[in-house]
Amino acid sequence: MSIVVQKYGGSSLADADAIKRVARRIVETKKAGHDVVVAVSAMGDSTDELLDLAHQVSPLPPAREMDMLLTAGERISMALVAMAISDLGFTARSFTGSQAGVITDAVHGKAKIIDVTPGRITTALGDGHVVIVAGFQGVSADTKEITTLGRGGTDTTAVALAAALGAEVCEIYTDVDGVFSADPRIVRTARKLAKVSYEEMLEMAASGAKILHLRCVEYGRRYGIPIHVRSSFSQLQGTWVVDDPSEGGTMEQPIIAGVAHDRSEAKITVVGVPDKVGEAARIFEALAEAQTNLDMIVQNVSAVATGLTDISFTLPRSDGQAAMAALARIQAEVGYEKLLYDDRIGKISLVGAGMRSHPGITSKFFASLASAGVNIDMISTSEIRISVIVAEDDVDEAVRATHTAFDLDSHEVEAVVYGGTGR
Ligand code: ASP
Ligand code: MG
Repeated sequence: MSIVVQKYGGSSLADADAIKRVARRIVETKKAGHDVVVAVSAMGDSTDELLDLAHQVSPLPPAREMDMLLTAGERISMALVAMAISDLGFTARSFTGSQAGVITDAVHGKAKIIDVTPGRITTALGDGHVVIVAGFQGVSADTKEITTLGRGGTDTTAVALAAALGAEVCEIYTDVDGVFSADPRIVRTARKLAKVSYEEMLEMAASGAKILHLRCVEYGRRYGIPIHVRSSFSQLQGTWVVDDPSEGGTMEQPIIAGVAHDRSEAKITVVGVPDKVGEAARIFEALAEAQTNLDMIVQNVSAVATGLTDISFTLPRSDGQAAMAALARIQAEVGYEKLLYDDRIGKISLVGAGMRSHPGITSKFFASLASAGVNIDMISTSEIRISVIVAEDDVDEAVRATHTAFDLDSHEVEAVVYGGTGR
């Protein structure tokens, strides 16, 4: 029998009625003749509520206890969904991540899955049960401690289970109908993508599109698991994330898949760095020691008159203060002039595999920003992505202008946001 793995996010499990609706949906899949394994997120915004609560109790909660606390959210969902399924005359067994065999490294708060040993799941499926697994969590092989996979990690749980079980598909149920060519909250005429490649989806997720957890896409690509992103509130086909979107179709792939944006970054500029060997190495060493994740980096040519240069980079806002402190500590040693910090920035990324073979994409992108009156602060590119940093207040306008310039607008409003608070 074929195995289908489904993931339901918090907004699909917001209250008792929602849970019953999800249970009916799971049972339909079971009735259609599949073995069903479900990964569930915590109900509604309950993860955020637990985080708030922790910070009320302690300004700096120990990471181990934070994981103990947060994993409780998914355990509540898994038991309630299993109960609702049994009420429909089917049996379900819920398992924590640890019971389900989700083995991770030992890093609290952002653990990586290193193995899945789904013995208990296959036994339960063999006994005819639907299996419900608490998402976003696992157990460290080394420390035996409970870990979490980082915010949004239930997507990754689902795809990892699908890979370990040899599932036919991993269905990610969410509160929109699929992956759109831009955030429908900004571009009302954003278009639903029928198919998108893993590589494009990876770039979009890394560029701030929140629809799928980045590591879930990496996992899907590595193991060749087709991911179907769709709404739990409608019966519509969603977006298929696959290796080769043109396979089986007659249509040529569009050049551009979509426009992503990100408002979670800040920019730091190290002003007046002496232009000599080893200075950049020292600066980025200090940032690495402070566990800073860097994104874009730009170094200007030094001014001949002064022999000084500026180095700018972007990073998650949440790492901003730690990075500034780490750089301040090496000021005398490096001999730079001063630091500038700016968190009123946003990043716009144009993503599409067709960029490789179509010249002129960059100039068209920049021209569309210019005609929208948007100034470009920094630029970076990959083979299939062009990103720019702009002022935060210009983000919406820049996304809309780019979306229109590349003819991505749909003729009708396709995007319905069914649930969720966007928190
Ligand atoms: N409940 C966790 C979160 O809100 C994990 C997830 O939703 O995937 O981040
Ligand atoms: Mg959530």
